Amino acid sequence: MKITIMGPPGGGKGTQAELLEKRFGITHISTGAIIRKAISERTPLGLAVQDFIAKGDLVPDDVVISMVKERIAEPDCEAGYILDGFPRTIPQAEAMESMGISLDCALEIRVEDDAIVERLSGRRECGKCAAPYHVKFNPPKVEGKCDKCGGDLITRADDVPEAIRERLSVYHAQTEPLRRFYQERGLLRTAKGCEELADTTKNVLQALGVE
Ligand code: AMP
Repeated sequence: MKITIMGPPGGGKGTQAELLEKRFGITHISTGAIIRKAISERTPLGLAVQDFIAKGDLVPDDVVISMVKERIAEPDCEAGYILDGFPRTIPQAEAMESMGISLDCALEIRVEDDAIVERLSGRRECGKCAAPYHVKFNPPKVEGKCDKCGGDLITRADDVPEAIRERLSVYHAQTEPLRRFYQERGLLRTAKGCEELADTTKNVLQALGVE
């Protein structure tokens, strides 16, 4: 099974992708997490892209496309995968098609812009394993600590107001056109993102036709 999850920044893609990874036993691939890891390890890729991320802009298509190509060739992707945050532009989606990858569906999580800022300001991420949390909507069992690995929770550098506004406008301009792209291919499924994690999960499973 191959799925892509799209939706605005802070819309819950990462959290839902994690749940689907467990439910379907397929690999969760977050391009954002791969990029943040490269930045924190100061690899050549990380150094080349860190300014794009800090401003809330997209990393160039060719960089992300070759990153994904490499990742999906790994053995843990044989049974399928959930792409979280890829494709994010029409050229990325076209590149995927020309690699011969056919998705089972493109799942869109819809959230209004007004709700996004509140969500992003409360968002936290494990500095060690990148598991996503939210102080209000998805808190860890112990404040400031990751449930999975005990790592410290951090606020992402791009969850600051200027970068949030930029990321929203980039989403509307560059990623939303993918709705039509996948609608035309009969692959688009839409789920409403809600305040409560359990409600969003329910909508996601319904949209996928599994509940
Ligand atoms: P995310 O964790 O998915 O919100 O991604 C964080 C940031 O990584 C984005 O704001 C972009 O700068 C970059 N990024 C992640 N995925 C992509 C992609 N498919 N294309 C371009 N930039 C990306």
